[in-house]
Amino acid sequence: MHPREQLVTIMRRIYGYGMTTTSGGNISIRDESGDIWITPGGTDKGALTEGDIVRMRGDQVAEGIHPPSSELPFHRAIYEARPDVRAVLHAHPAPLVAFSLVRRIPDTSIIPQARAVCGEVGYAAYAIPGSEELGRNIAATFARGFDTVLLENHGVAAAGHDLLEAFQRFETLDFCARTLINAGVLGKARSLGPDQIALFNQGKNQRMPELDVKARGSAELATRREMREFIHRAYRQRLMTSTEGTVSVRIQEATFLISPYGLDRSYLDESDFVLIQGGMRERGLVPSRAVIMHREIYAANPGIRAIISAQSPAVTAFTVTGTPLESAIIPESYVVLRDVPLIAYGRQFSDEKRLAAEISPRTPVVLLQNDAILTTGSSLTEAYDRLEVAEFSAKAILNSARLGNVQRIGEQELEAIREKFQLR
Ligand SMILES: [Zn+2]
Repeated sequence: MHPREQLVTIMRRIYGYGMTTTSGGNISIRDESGDIWITPGGTDKGALTEGDIVRMRGDQVAEGIHPPSSELPFHRAIYEARPDVRAVLHAHPAPLVAFSLVRRIPDTSIIPQARAVCGEVGYAAYAIPGSEELGRNIAATFARGFDTVLLENHGVAAAGHDLLEAFQRFETLDFCARTLINAGVLGKARSLGPDQIALFNQGKNQRMPELDVKARGSAELATRREMREFIHRAYRQRLMTSTEGTVSVRIQEATFLISPYGLDRSYLDESDFVLIQGGMRERGLVPSRAVIMHREIYAANPGIRAIISAQSPAVTAFTVTGTPLESAIIPESYVVLRDVPLIAYGRQFSDEKRLAAEISPRTPVVLLQNDAILTTGSSLTEAYDRLEVAEFSAKAILNSARLGNVQRIGEQELEAIREKFQLR
């Protein structure tokens, strides 16, 4: 993609999610020749077009119909400090601004994926927006090797080898900030140590032997389309982020399709899903890190046809604080989710068989501590519905905690629900 197209596409994603306002936020790309392409100052970020983008030539001449963003000095200072950086993103999403107001750095070690994407987060002291001083403060922090930097009483800046990487760091850090704010209602978020985070990076998915796929049946092609639709829906509904969330669907017995490792969820296409057959992966493709866990769940549960693991935002507040999700306080949630056990961190990476044994028709959903919610179903629609129901239940419980004391339904009422819906 041309730099103009990349900048417009990413600004649309940022604005579309309410992570910046009409007047705020700016992003830039440095191309091979050293020219900087940047969003303009004083234009509507919700209606940005390719023609609005400003090109700064090496000799500092601006080319375009608008002036460059007033924050150009700090973009330029970051590029000077970090020759490896090719894209810079700055915006003011409310959760990260909240952290900058209390002058606290969001802890990314609450979720292993977040730590891997964002790394350690830097902090730049306050200076007036658009000033050379602000540029110096931010660039000095990036020069120390940070790729995400919180700007005191202001917002956040993220950098990357390309714009997509900068965006993913920004979006993931915003996700951590939202999670920590929600988690504050429930208790203290538990931070993972380096050894625990290392468990997540074992690379089992990359070491699976490869398999040549000759022909694809019509059932597989239809399943690929269905998976693409659901994963895009999950991204739109913010049940997944660009860097997190896995979907798999069984074709037959030990053959299933699973989403790939490392690709942006909002751009996934039908051909990106990886066919897994008896422990082998489709040649040339790398499945999600969760592949062994999904394989063991299918092996132990013949009735399961679809599995989703996701870090939906409200549920993640429960997983990072180790709070059980009490489904039995909302009748319809109990009918769809049943009891939801909380599984200790690490089992999904080191003892997948034991984890798979926890799943059954009576326990179709589990929470993985400091990680994700895992939902299963006899169809992808059922697994997806369980994800949505878990998320709305978690949201309702978080909100109720802000209102007052939660009143539970009694054991007798629960028994009546089990009776009526035949939950045995
Ligand atoms: Zn700003």
